[in-house]
Amino acid sequence: MKKNKIDWKKTLTKEEFHILREKGTELPFTGKYGDNKERGIYRCAACGNELFSSDTKFDSGSGWPSFWAPIQETNIAKKTDDSLMMKRIEVVCRKCGGHLGHVFDDGPAPTHKRFCINSAALHFKKNKKK
Ligand code: FE
Repeated sequence: MKKNKIDWKKTLTKEEFHILREKGTELPFTGKYGDNKERGIYRCAACGNELFSSDTKFDSGSGWPSFWAPIQETNIAKKTDDSLMMKRIEVVCRKCGGHLGHVFDDGPAPTHKRFCINSAALHFKKNKKK
């Protein structure tokens, strides 16, 4: 599914568009999922692709939702990002190419990765109680 800029503007909020399509970053401690401790799945806010599970979410203290692994490596893609005079690894949704955040090497075991993700790039779906 390929959408152009006008299509994305219709389906995303202003903030979602800025982050997902313009590689924006929300201010730390302002996102809706930083402190979310409920169990469930975080999907791409643009295309619904399953990205992260609450099972790998941890408190990084950074002010952004942080995960030590994606649901599946094949659901995301990584790109080198040299903006802001820093060498970082950008994380994007494999399905729609939306910008999600960055991944760093200072996460907890078992992966020691820290996927630092913008809340506005995600839609959380709580697990149904059995
Ligand atoms: Fe997506």
